[in-house]
Parts: sequence; structure tokens; C-alpha cells
Amino acid sequence: MQPVTLPLGPLTLHGFSRSGLATYVAVPALDACFDLGHCDQDVAGLRNVLLSHVHHDHVLGLVRHLRLRALSSAPPPRVYVPAESRDDLLAVLRAHERMEHADPQDLDSIVHPVSPGDVLHLSSRYSVRAFDATHRAPSRGYTVTETRRKLKPALAGLPTETIRTRAQRGETVTDDVTFDLLTYVGDSTVDTLERHPEVGRSEVLLLEATYLPPDPTSAAARYGHTHLDELVELHHRCPQALASRHVVLKHFSLKYSDSQVHEALAHLPDGLRDRVTPLLAP
Ligand SMILES: [Zn+2]
Ligand SMILES: [Zn+2]
Repeated sequence: MQPVTLPLGPLTLHGFSRSGLATYVAVPALDACFDLGHCDQDVAGLRNVLLSHVHHDHVLGLVRHLRLRALSSAPPPRVYVPAESRDDLLAVLRAHERMEHADPQDLDSIVHPVSPGDVLHLSSRYSVRAFDATHRAPSRGYTVTETRRKLKPALAGLPTETIRTRAQRGETVTDDVTFDLLTYVGDSTVDTLERHPEVGRSEVLLLEATYLPPDPTSAAARYGHTHLDELVELHHRCPQALASRHVVLKHFSLKYSDSQVHEALAHLPDGLRDRVTPLLAP
């Protein structure tokens, strides 16, 4: 489970993802990790954990995350999980505390339920919009929105001293400008993207592609996953859903070698191929 580091425009991602083994994507700039199938020491330093769903390959690192943070006296994490799965996750975490004879943590205030449409605040600069994703277990997608303060266009070109004086007099000299920085979709069928084509407005879009050609697309539908060919069809049918500058594909089945994945991606159509990066070693 060798993690890879991907510098993508404004963000650097660090993570690993293979179906059935582990998936986690750490984004240090957001102090956040999406899914937590495994937890190394760097990831334990991130406070916000956003779980797409509770299949083992997406949550098994959570116990270690809680323990490593407690050991280092870091503030407790904020764990976000689909509302439907929160009680079961709490039961597992409490059972672990009992098995380990660990000091009980205030898990009720650590694990937060997430429903579609909820807005989470990571910081004054970054907020997250949750939406529903289609999978075999209740699943959420997450879009991170960045808010930047920009000088009002009417004031552009004025001397700094003049702007400062106006601000001190109580005049509003800036506008808040928001844009979608990143969308994370965990395990999902392709219809999530058709229902939420706005994900393509994000600078960075993380999607799953568990199955690759020449395997048939039927397996993807049966197990609640996406086949690479379905993304190609979507690119032709609904291009706005895949319009992101950076499209990161992950969660490839363990039956494919890294080189088979790279080979399949090399055959993506023009206009998509050069924007796609796998979460794999180059
Ligand atoms: Zn999975
Ligand atoms: Zn899953």
C-alpha cells in the first residue's frame, strides 16, 4: 500500500486507493482526509475525516486515527459519516475501545452525521457541500468550496493608503468570491454524476473507476461501481460532468496491474485523456 503524492494545480493530494484493500485521499491544505481505509502518521495529523461510506476498505484506518491523535494529545478529530451509518460506526468504535481497554473518548461529539444538502465548515476559507451518491451502502459525495476575499473591482488601481482609509471608515472594500475547488466521490455508479453534473465545475474531481475494458460494464452495475467505458460515454453525453481541469481516478480492482491501468487510460478519447490522472505510482 505505497501512497502516492499528486500535485494538481492549487492542491497536493497524498493517498492510496485499490478496491477492497484501502482508499484514502489526504489533502493537507484542507486539513482533511477523504475516506480512511488506512491511516499513516501523516494522515493522523489531519483533523477532518470525511467518509463517503462505511465499507471496510474506506474506514478501517479510523480506529488508528483516533488512537494516534489521542497519543500525541492532538485535538479530537471531526469525523463525518453518512447519517444512516453513524450509529453502527459508533457501535464499532465503542466495541474497539472496550476490546482494547482504551480510555473512552467522547465519540458522540467526534462523529457527525451527514445528509445530502448539508454544509460543513472546515475553516473560514473552506466549506463542504454534501450530496447523495449511488452505491450499495448509503454514500455521500463532497464538494469543497473556497471563499476568497477580493478587492472590489471599482477600487482596483487606487493607492493602498486610500483603500485602507476607506476600510477604516467602515466602507466595504472587498467582495467574497467562492469557487468549487475539489469534489470527492467515493464508490459510486456513474448515475451519481448524471444527477450532479455540477461536480464538473470543481478544479479537481476524484472519481472511482473500479472496472476497465475489456471487462464488461455489467459487473460495475451489479456491485454499485463505475466502469471506465461508462465515464467515456458520460464524457460524450454529458461533458459538463467531467469538465474539471484535473480528473483523478481511483479504486481500481486489484485484478488489474498498475501497467494495465495506465494502458487503459492511454486509450481515453482526446479531450479527456490529458486531464485524467490515476491515483497510482507513475
Ligand atoms: Zn471500496
Ligand atoms: Zn464500497
